[in-house]
Amino acid sequence: MPSARLDPATRSRSLANLGREEVDILVVGGGVTGAGIALDAATRGLRTAIVDGQDWGAGTSSRSSRLVHGGLRYLYNLDFRLVAESLHERGILLTTTAPHLVTAQPFLWPLRTPVIERAYSAVGVGMYDALGLIGARRRTVPFQHHYSLTRTKEVFPDAREDALVGSIRFFDARVDDARLVTTLIRTAVRYGAHAVSHAEVTELPRDATGRVTGAVVVDHLSGEQVEIRAGHVIGAVGVWTEHLQGLAGSEGPLHVLASKGIHLVVPRDRIRGNAGMFLRTEKSVLFIIPWPDHWVIGTTDTPWSEDLTHPVASARTWTTSSSTPTRCSPRGSRART
Ligand SMILES: Cc1cc2nc3c(=O)[nH]c(=O)nc-3n(C[C@H](O)[C@H](O)[C@H](O)COP(=O)(O)OP(=O)(O)OC[C@H]3O[C@@H](n4cnc5c(N)ncnc54)[C@H](O)[C@@H]3O)c2cc1C
Repeated sequence: MPSARLDPATRSRSLANLGREEVDILVVGGGVTGAGIALDAATRGLRTAIVDGQDWGAGTSSRSSRLVHGGLRYLYNLDFRLVAESLHERGILLTTTAPHLVTAQPFLWPLRTPVIERAYSAVGVGMYDALGLIGARRRTVPFQHHYSLTRTKEVFPDAREDALVGSIRFFDARVDDARLVTTLIRTAVRYGAHAVSHAEVTELPRDATGRVTGAVVVDHLSGEQVEIRAGHVIGAVGVWTEHLQGLAGSEGPLHVLASKGIHLVVPRDRIRGNAGMFLRTEKSVLFIIPWPDHWVIGTTDTPWSEDLTHPVASARTWTTSSSTPTRCSPRGSRART
């Protein structure tokens, strides 16, 4: 079996091979989507290559809230299929494919009013537990647990006593997002895929019928150009989708609107709590996620029209009679299709 190394020598060998041999599948984009596609293709025995113009996971896949969740909030849209599928995947990651990278994480769902809110929240979380059980075909995280105000304060001492009457504890999972991507790529390489980072697709050559026959990549380390011939080229480029479709000479069916997500990162000792918090906001939800040394609080979701590769903090100032609000740092860009 080939080695799973992602070192400079393997990279050079892969690039040289790709200049000579045609592959069945060329995946453009080494975020979590492309890495998963490459692994899927390689394990089916297809001759596979994956390239990324930056490092593996350098796009949105290293800037997420680092949660593997079924999307409790999608239950509000009655999207049961989506939630069940995500919980199925969560179960596989937790128990089989990446238990070293994905950790079960308890969250508190704070309740502001007694009885009615507790009852309907219990139904929602109960459905989430049930879909998790059905999806994974076994229990992979504990079921919901109901807490009084006193117990909530024991678990989360800094929760404001006057803001809640109790809580429900439920489970989701935390992931090291960038390591998960690298591990997927390494595993694909182990199954024979060629993986080349810092190799940007700049052209998509086509035959007389207009069919894409491969890609021209620029090796950002050497400046050289290599043409890779491929039976199929799969774009997994997230917010860069419209640009890649443009290289293929098509406006394409997908329109992706970039948006900016902001997380606040707070030292762990500033908030006393032994679980995460799941809060509903006016427009969406907000997670307070515990990490070993920090709390990660987010995320926002606002449009982003600047450089996709380097989302940066924007200081927005507007004139009011008294204040100058500041915006905090963006952590990524979200693709909406
Ligand atoms: C703030 C925020 C929080 C989120 N939190 C979560 C969460 O907690 N849990 C969750 O499951 N999801 C979360 N998401 C969503 C998740 O992060 C994304 O759905 C996922 O990372 C998208 O991965 P991708 O591989 O499709 O895109 P990307 O990770 O962006 O990968 C695309 C890759 O394509 C490469 N590329 C682009 N153009 C070219 C080219 N011409 N040639 C070669 N390479 C190219 C880029 O360099 C990039 O590496 C969050 C998203 C945001 C924005």
